[in-house]
Amino acid sequence: MGYYITRQARMDASHIVEITNEKDVINGDMLQPEYKGEGDLWIDPQAAVETAILIRNLWQRDRKDVNITMAVGNATEYHPMDAHGLRVWAAVQVDLMPRCVWCGGIIYTDAIRMWTGTKTGVVNTFCSMGCALEYLDDMTTPAIDKVAAAVDEAINGFYDETGEDDETE
Ligand SMILES: [Zn+2]
Repeated sequence: MGYYITRQARMDASHIVEITNEKDVINGDMLQPEYKGEGDLWIDPQAAVETAILIRNLWQRDRKDVNITMAVGNATEYHPMDAHGLRVWAAVQVDLMPRCVWCGGIIYTDAIRMWTGTKTGVVNTFCSMGCALEYLDDMTTPAIDKVAAAVDEAINGFYDETGEDDETE
């Protein structure tokens, strides 16, 4: 999963910077990459959009004779958008992305999948092996140990804040 940015000069003379989410359906009118980030695979849709806007501005600077627009689309679909529209679109893409069960972070690339269900056979997804291991550690720590650790932390935190200790009593 990812996004590609291409520049296109179409038969109808329109000039478009397009964001496509699958390389094999990019419109055949694409031009050779000239600007940084063009043709690269972008896993973060928001970074892809900001780069597309930059490419559009640079291309427009170099081609003052044509009006360069932007769009999200592929060979069969085409949705013209201005910078604001593209940023809203990218935010929606981010909302649709899977999240790590442990840290809540976005899973941009392949998730770590781990069977963690003791009864129901749940497969959870994690952004990294570190998160999967922390989740596993937490899951296997008995509840009583967690309470003891929390009490410990609260007491230590109290003395850290007040600077008091037992010797004053
Ligand atoms: Zn995570």
